[in-house]
Amino acid sequence: MTSVGIAFEKGDEVILGEHEDNPTYGKNWSLEMKKYVGKKAKITGKIGTSDIYTYYYVDADQGKWCWRGENMTLVESVTEAIKAPEVYGAKCIKCSEYNNYVLASDNFMCYSCKH
Ligand SMILES: [Zn+2]
Repeated sequence: MTSVGIAFEKGDEVILGEHEDNPTYGKNWSLEMKKYVGKKAKITGKIGTSDIYTYYYVDADQGKWCWRGENMTLVESVTEAIKAPEVYGAKCIKCSEYNNYVLASDNFMCYSCKH
């Protein structure tokens, strides 16, 4: 899932995504990054921009890897949530109702139970 044109700021919360393979730039990927895919992370800094990609450091891996902004999803983005059910969706701990539009979580409580 690409989100070209979205520039992230330091402190933005994103869901990390696997880099797509690009014929010119390759994948720029390490197998060690795989375990962070689908996880929430905070942008800790911008590394730089190539022709089509912007790279960022995130807190999840203590800034070890360079992550492409184009493969990240802003946490608040609900439209992306619908397209990535494996990343999103949680069962309310109180009423057990499943909510597709929230981040995966073990201690999610739905809006009605909270209020
Ligand atoms: Zn509930």
